[in-house]
Amino acid sequence: MSTPKILILGAGYGGLVTAVRLQKHMNYNEVDVTLVNKHDYHYFTTWLHEPAAGTLDPDKCRVSIESLLDTNKVKFIKGTVKEIKREEKKAILENGEELSYDYVVIALGSEPETFGIQGLKEYAFSIRSINSVRQIREHIEYNFAKYKMEKRPELLTFIVGGAGFTGIEFVGELTDRIPELCEEFDVDPSVVKIYNIEAAPTVLPGFDPELVNYAMEVLSRKGVTFKISTPIKECTPDGVVLADGEEIKSNTVVWTGGVRGNAIIENAGFETMRGRVKVDEYLHAPNHDDTFIVGDSALIINEETNRPYPPTAQIAIQQGENLAQNLLAAIRGGQMKPFVPSLKGTVASLGKGEAIGLVGDKKIYGSTAALMKKVIDNRSLYMLGGLSLMLKKAKL
Ligand code: FAD
Ligand code: NAD
Repeated sequence: MSTPKILILGAGYGGLVTAVRLQKHMNYNEVDVTLVNKHDYHYFTTWLHEPAAGTLDPDKCRVSIESLLDTNKVKFIKGTVKEIKREEKKAILENGEELSYDYVVIALGSEPETFGIQGLKEYAFSIRSINSVRQIREHIEYNFAKYKMEKRPELLTFIVGGAGFTGIEFVGELTDRIPELCEEFDVDPSVVKIYNIEAAPTVLPGFDPELVNYAMEVLSRKGVTFKISTPIKECTPDGVVLADGEEIKSNTVVWTGGVRGNAIIENAGFETMRGRVKVDEYLHAPNHDDTFIVGDSALIINEETNRPYPPTAQIAIQQGENLAQNLLAAIRGGQMKPFVPSLKGTVASLGKGEAIGLVGDKKIYGSTAALMKKVIDNRSLYMLGGLSLMLKKAKL
């Protein structure tokens, strides 16, 4: 019998945890495992608001993928997936290489959801990779330098579209970075404006109202102007137009208005909702027992609320752990275990030393929540690369 081939597409939280857990539990030569990723490094998506604002070095947020692998067990290919041919059981890379599989794990993450809003794709930045956040950081600095020459206020007006967790965490970092940039470029801080614009009647819709108020108070004090119940209708080279007709001029619009599953999956013919595939309890795509989907491209329903679980790293990591065991069970003829998320809570940073969170039923604020956020960030390092990665990259 030939050795079964497992192909893992994407080395984010879901794909990488599947790979490292497989290598931990498999025997040599029992399975032929290949991991494919666009870059030869994994980045910590959950930290990206920091390098985007310039409060953390982007290099601190990434690690070489091969340094986390036993390459005698898991082969790594640096390549960009272009297409999945599910009937032929093949993935095609941009360089034309074809990779066949017996089982495929699709872990290609998400893309910005623009809801068809005109101009967002062309003129707005988004926080989605090391390259994208480097661009945002450099752009912000460049606008400070440019302002010194041109004195146009829109150069120092920063718009963040969407006040979900990504938007809130990013404006939190910006409020820490702006004073440093004002000092560096001799700019009067009162010239700088940060707008966080939200379509819903509240920021962080659906989150605990007391914690939401706390976040708004902290961030308003640090210089953020919130505009709520005012959807962005259009993004232009000059700024944004809101649904109520107001125009805000800005040279920097960062779109944090939500995510959808990776388009490659929809293009492969899977039925999707906002690009996400409703997987079964074993994370199979419907009617495809050879195809598993984890992370932001998988949709699972919370039976208690009858709504989809939000796409998070927390769930992606847990799916990777479950799937590695299930793949080995499938290959060894054992019993697979259904995936059941175990939610530990949500903690969101509001910049240095400030955060909010719900841990179980307990609300946490301020420095306690900020400390908890570091514990969570460091724990995810441990899940990916054990103690050695934690020692190398830990937030202190
Ligand atoms: P990702 O981690 O995004 O990984 C996808 C991987 O696929 C990447 O390595 C990418 O390079 C690769 N890839 C994509 N396309 C291709 C291709 N065509 N070919 C090859 N490779 C490809 N969640 C939490 O639980 N807690 C948090 O505190 C938190 N904070 C966040 C903060 C920010 C700023 C953001 C943006 C998100 C945050 N999230 C958080 C959400 C969390 O980051 C995502 O849910 C999580 O990253 C999803 O994991 P994933 O494995 O599906 O995708
Ligand atoms: P999101 O979907 O959670 O939030 C997007 C926000 O943009 C929403 O509040 C929405 O109402 C708003 N919006 C949509 N269209 C708009 C428009 N036209 N104008 C203005 N506002 C508009 O997306 P996200 O914040 O990117 O988060 C993505 C996922 O990552 C979520 O599941 C989130 O829970 C997770 N995440 C978690 C953390 C954390 O746990 N600390 C941090 C970041 C992200």
